[in-house]
Amino acid sequence: MSVVLVPKSVEDAVAMLAEHAEAMPLSGGATLIAMRNAGLVDPPYLVSLDAVPELRGIKRTGTGGIRIGAMTRHCETAACEELTGSLLVLRRAAGMIANRVVRNMGTIGGSVGNADPAADYLPALSCCDAVLEVAGPDGRREVSIHDYVEDWYETALEEGEIITAITLPAPRAASSTYRKIARVSGDYATASCAMALEEDGKGLRAAIGACGPGPLRDRDAEAALRGRLDDPAAVLEFAASLAALADPVDDVRGSTEYRLSLIPRLITSVLSELTTQTEVA
Ligand SMILES: Cc1cc2nc3c(=O)[nH]c(=O)nc-3n(C[C@H](O)[C@H](O)[C@H](O)COP(=O)(O)OP(=O)(O)OC[C@H]3O[C@@H](n4cnc5c(N)ncnc54)[C@H](O)[C@@H]3O)c2cc1C
Repeated sequence: MSVVLVPKSVEDAVAMLAEHAEAMPLSGGATLIAMRNAGLVDPPYLVSLDAVPELRGIKRTGTGGIRIGAMTRHCETAACEELTGSLLVLRRAAGMIANRVVRNMGTIGGSVGNADPAADYLPALSCCDAVLEVAGPDGRREVSIHDYVEDWYETALEEGEIITAITLPAPRAASSTYRKIARVSGDYATASCAMALEEDGKGLRAAIGACGPGPLRDRDAEAALRGRLDDPAAVLEFAASLAALADPVDDVRGSTEYRLSLIPRLITSVLSELTTQTEVA
C-alpha cells in the first residue's frame, strides 16, 4: 500500500518528496500504477501532482513560445491548435501515443519524467529544441532537452526534482511531422523520426527515437546537410551520422540490425513527405 499525498503547490510537492525519501511523484499513473501493480516498484508514498494549478494548461509565453504544463494530458497536446508549423511534430507525436485510454490518462511531465527510450515525446521535443522547467529542493532551474537523457532511464533530474513544464520556442512557418514504426498501431516505437524543415526549405532538424537511451540528434550533421536536401547521397550521409550515434537494443520490438536499417528509411521517407507537402499546420 502506498500513501497518496496531495499537495496544492509545486513548493509543497517538492517539500513532500524531500520529507519522504522513497516517495515518487504521481502524474497520470498510466505507467507508475501499472509498475506498482506488477511489483516493479513499491513506493511508501506517492505525491500526486493532480491538484497543483501551476502544472496545468498550455499557454503562450511572453516571447511567443509555448509553455506546456507538466500535467497536460497527451489528448490535450494532441488537440492543441497552437502547435503549428515547426511545432506540429509534437502534436503529431502526442496523437500517436498508445490508444485513447492512455492518452486521456498520461501526461507530458510523467512521460518525460519516465524517460522511456521508445516513448514518443522525447524525439519530438528534441526536434523542437525544448527546454524543461524543473523544481526541486535547491529551487527552480531549466534543463535543455539535449542534456536531459544521460543513459538508459537516467536523466539530468536530481533527487527530489520534478518537471513542472516544457517550454518550446515560438512556432515557425515551417513544416514538421512525426513518424513511428511499431509492430501494431498503439504499440511503443520500434524506431521513430521527428523532423522539421527550416522555413527557407534548405535545412532540417531531425531526431530519431527508440534507437538508444535518448533521442539521436546530430546538429553538426544538420549544418553540413544545409542546402543539399535534394542530394540523395548527402541525405544518406546524414542518416549514417545518426546511425553512428545509435545504440539500439535487441528486443521483442525489433533486432538491433532491423532498428539500424530503419534509420535511413525513416530519414529519407519523412524528408520526402515534408518536401512534397504544402500544408504547415
Ligand atoms: C498500455 C500502455 C501503452 C503505452 N504506449 C505508449 C506509447 O506508444 N508511446 C509512449 O510514448 N508512451 C506510451 N505509454 C506510456 C504513457 O505515455 C504514460 O502516460 C507515460 O509514460 C507516463 O505518464 P503518466 O502521466 O501516466 O506518468 P506516471 O505513470 O504518473 O509516472 C511515470 C513516471 O514518471 C515519474 N513522474 C511523474 N510525473 C513526473 C514529473 N512531473 N516530473 C518527474 N517525474 C515524474 C513518476 O514518478 C514515474 O516514475 C504507454 C503506457 C501504457 C500503460
